Amino acid sequence: MNQTTSVSDPSPVEKYRNNFLKEVEANVEEGDWVKMCMQCGVCSGSCPLGSAWAHPPQELFMMIRAGQREEVLRSESMWMCTSCYSCVVRCPRELPIMHIMHGLANYANRLGLAPKMNPTKRFAKLFWDNIAATGRVNESRLSIKLYFMNGLVSGIKTAFAMRKVGLGMLKTHRLNLIGFFRAGGIKEKNQLQQMLNKAYEIEDKRKGLS
Ligand code: SF4
Ligand code: SF4
Repeated sequence: MNQTTSVSDPSPVEKYRNNFLKEVEANVEEGDWVKMCMQCGVCSGSCPLGSAWAHPPQELFMMIRAGQREEVLRSESMWMCTSCYSCVVRCPRELPIMHIMHGLANYANRLGLAPKMNPTKRFAKLFWDNIAATGRVNESRLSIKLYFMNGLVSGIKTAFAMRKVGLGMLKTHRLNLIGFFRAGGIKEKNQLQQMLNKAYEIEDKRKGLS
């Protein structure tokens, strides 16, 4: 044993694992893989969108290991992942990068640190509310709510800009406006709601809300 190292001193590896890295390992889906990243940059180079983000995956993993908690959890970057798997199939260390990206977004959301106006986050909420209501996606309602997500004027402008696409979809029966007024969905909606209520209860316990 090194003369300057006492028995209670953490190992060099343990010292390297800062509090935020430990927090990510404990709370983020597949977060215990972050320490395996060797910073080769293949994921960031392979990501079709990463160059447009403030922090592509490699950088986020470096920031986690540097303990930059606020910068990571308040970042928009992980919300922009399109789950294309390009990084996952190329990572020489086989990190489940895409899952970590979604896991980070989910964890930031649970902590209330996710950017409020992020369009992906807002679309995810619209999609969830839509499908959770009846057990099936009502595409007409989802599309219209998406168009009007930023208010009436913006919605009218978007609908006008997309009019040719909309008319084409109506003609080919890919869009059903009558469906907007129909509840539809699965037969056993009550059972679905019971399952969801149980899931919300478990989630609240995890967050320490009950
Ligand atoms: S490709 Fe894998 S090892 Fe390389 S920087 Fe990305 S996550 Fe790290
Ligand atoms: S899965 Fe996400 S992070 Fe990975 S390359 Fe695709 S968009 Fe980028």
